[in-house]
Amino acid sequence: MRVFKFGGASVKSASAVKNVGEVLRTQSEGPLVVIISAMGKITNKLEKLMDAYFHNKDDKRILYKEILNFHSEIIKDLKIAENDYYEVENLLIELECKIEKKRDETSSYDVEYDRIVPFGELISTKIVSTYLNKIGYKNRWIDARNFVITTNKNRAANVIWEESVPLINSSLKPLVERQTIVTQGFIGRGLNHKNTTLGREGSDYTASIFAYALDAESVTIWKDVDGVMNADPRKFENAVLIEKLSYNEAIELAYYGASVIHPKTIQPLKNKGIPLYVKSFVDPAKPGTVVLENESRTLNETQCYIVKENQSMITIASKDFSFIVEDNLEIIFNAFNTAGIQLNLMQNSAISFMASFNEDELKANYLSEILIEKFNVSLAKGHTLLTIFNYNKTNSEMEEIIGQRNVVLEQKSNSALQLLLI
Ligand code: ASP
Repeated sequence: MRVFKFGGASVKSASAVKNVGEVLRTQSEGPLVVIISAMGKITNKLEKLMDAYFHNKDDKRILYKEILNFHSEIIKDLKIAENDYYEVENLLIELECKIEKKRDETSSYDVEYDRIVPFGELISTKIVSTYLNKIGYKNRWIDARNFVITTNKNRAANVIWEESVPLINSSLKPLVERQTIVTQGFIGRGLNHKNTTLGREGSDYTASIFAYALDAESVTIWKDVDGVMNADPRKFENAVLIEKLSYNEAIELAYYGASVIHPKTIQPLKNKGIPLYVKSFVDPAKPGTVVLENESRTLNETQCYIVKENQSMITIASKDFSFIVEDNLEIIFNAFNTAGIQLNLMQNSAISFMASFNEDELKANYLSEILIEKFNVSLAKGHTLLTIFNYNKTNSEMEEIIGQRNVVLEQKSNSALQLLLI
């Protein structure tokens, strides 16, 4: 039994969907679960639609039309009788009804988000599943929400393994043995029976949830790049492919923000020793990257560069000159948690705490509001966080990398050097 995951880029157009058909036809053998994300950048569009709906903005209908037209074009270009897509049509109608209905004023932004944004995955899997059946690749569409049972934390739900694993085993496994299953990444159902999502890019995590529960032989994430690179080739001209990574290295790379694999994906696979392949859907014959070693280091001399642009930097200083130790740190971390902000780098001195996180004006303002009573808070935008993993550089090499920029925060661990630059 194997698990394949196709992200948004692999289903961004009719020709991309046809290519998925080709990859499946040539690369799949034996029982298979196929996890698919929303098409192209539709999740971003749905987030905008959600925002317009929630704040009753004028562009709500325009955004809906764009989503409708995008999917209709793909269906048309796939040249399959439009009647076959009545279920997709139903989903689009359901989405329209949702945004037209008056919003329940007591419902929070995050709850509404999880009602609307999952439509991207539901629609894309219906289109791909229908297309595959039409070209003779028999498969069965399954609603992932019936199997991925999560905490009720909207937009960042955690899987509840004790609930999900038995369900997948008892109800899904027999189906996978009979026929390829096509299902959605990213979405789940909370214990309160309402929709949840696993966080942006969460479909990789879905793949590893199913793989863990099914004791899969392997997981393959199909990408538009050859595999995991040691740097973004658009930013570093000497970027090279990493052929093999240990689970620990992959976890650390994902933690530092390498966008190839969602951070939560590796641990379940590591626990069961399930190999993860990252391969190119453009050229499936290429070997790609495999993550499987339990030993701690396979990278040897290869250093990895992870760049996170658009970082906010916050400085939090106690008003009463009390030290930033346990009690103040508790308040500060609680505030980050309440504001829903993930820290990318943090450092503290006697009376101040500094951190960087992805820019998000709403969340940053909310964080300041929480902290302002007890602390002096200052916020600055436009920073870049550079992480060099497996760090082994001379000073002059570092000077070249940093160039004209200033280092405002610096942190070094056994495995990584992190610099916040402006
Ligand atoms: N569609 C979701 C996103 O764009 C989940 C995923 O693609 O993994 O974040």
